[in-house]
Amino acid sequence: MSDLFTRAQAVIPGGVNSPVRAFGAVGGDPFFVARASGSHLWDTEGHDYLDYVQSWGASILGHAAPKVVEAVQRAAADGTSYGAPTEREVLLAEAIVERVPSVEKVRLVSSGTEAAMTAVRLARGATGRPKVLKFAGCYHGHLDALLVAAGSGVATLGLPGSAGVTEGAVSDTVVVPYNDESALDAAFDAYGADLAAVLVEPVAANMGLVLPAPGFLEGLQRRCDASGALLVFDEVITGFRVDRSGAQGWFGMTPDLSIFGKVIGGGLPLAAVGGRADVMDELAPVGPVYQAGTLSGNPLATAAGLAVLAELTDDAYRDLTGKATRLARGLREAAAASSVPVQVPQARTLVGLFCTPDPVVDYDTARTADGIRYAALFGRLLAGGVYVAPSPFETMFVSLAHTDAEIDRTTELAAEAFAAIVRG
Ligand SMILES: *Cc1c(COP(=O)(O)O)cnc(C)c1O
Repeated sequence: MSDLFTRAQAVIPGGVNSPVRAFGAVGGDPFFVARASGSHLWDTEGHDYLDYVQSWGASILGHAAPKVVEAVQRAAADGTSYGAPTEREVLLAEAIVERVPSVEKVRLVSSGTEAAMTAVRLARGATGRPKVLKFAGCYHGHLDALLVAAGSGVATLGLPGSAGVTEGAVSDTVVVPYNDESALDAAFDAYGADLAAVLVEPVAANMGLVLPAPGFLEGLQRRCDASGALLVFDEVITGFRVDRSGAQGWFGMTPDLSIFGKVIGGGLPLAAVGGRADVMDELAPVGPVYQAGTLSGNPLATAAGLAVLAELTDDAYRDLTGKATRLARGLREAAAASSVPVQVPQARTLVGLFCTPDPVVDYDTARTADGIRYAALFGRLLAGGVYVAPSPFETMFVSLAHTDAEIDRTTELAAEAFAAIVRG
């Protein structure tokens, strides 16, 4: 165990400031990052890793992209926070509204959790209804109301998914399996008139990568329209990553509200909730729904976000999709060469990997994936200098800084790893 991890555990619970950073699912101890550049990061012991975590998708250009670093440095020289409006907040809001047709107004916040919390309160305030529906295996941050474990099968009223979350806090949360239209019908029959909002990851990227079945999102929209519930797309991962206008642009959909994070902050703490102007105007100071933040629209974060969006041209998305396709194809071939059954779903620029012979369509099927095999693969990749997420329920993030040669080195290493796994 590294000296730093020992010290970290003495003063930080588990030694990490977010549980996904621990290596609990794959074994071993987390490394400590010293610095990063492009597709690489270096730990405090000098090891060099090709990084497919990329701050869980926040770094779409790669680490320390010169234009982002320069924008942040320039902004910092003028002061790091004022608690008063700035021009860059307007520019970033305009950039989001311009790219995402469903978003007419936007409020900037500091984390995806905060954006989801705001969306839930706003939907409840705007509709006067209490309940929210979410899907099992979708993650919307760690607000109490959405931190709910999934019941399987039919729609169930939520049970708390964490100690410290009271039954009261989740008693208005309805949980339904992803891609399950009949469970959705049952939930809308039972609770439709009380539903303020339906939150969904339009491409689920927190139970591994699970794509929506054809018609699933459209059916959701139809049911929301009929019942008066607001449709909220959680595009914290997919926003500005799978398409210039997010998953909703890719699928041609118009949710009432959307939340963004990760890419939009360019690696700094920034997220956003946006949508229909009439709904957004329910927020204080115009409307009665209170929401606030000392660091909201922070000058460094807005500078980073604007610098990132400026780089995300149509060519950039084509390039990134090409890299993701190369990675996905290479991983499939690597597994096939050793007859290891895997599912390698791809959603344009996002790639997933499940060690299972069966198609993964929801949380229950995701959980049939072989975690021990994933841990073995993770360990061999890490030993070879390739860092993928330390959990079988995450997504692989390529950045614009990843080269074809690096992707090929990754899939060659994966082929060796799969071969070693079947040898046992
Ligand atoms: C990461 C994530 C969140 C939470 O964002 P934080 O900034 O970590 O609070 C919410 N929704 C989705 C889909 C995410 O991937």
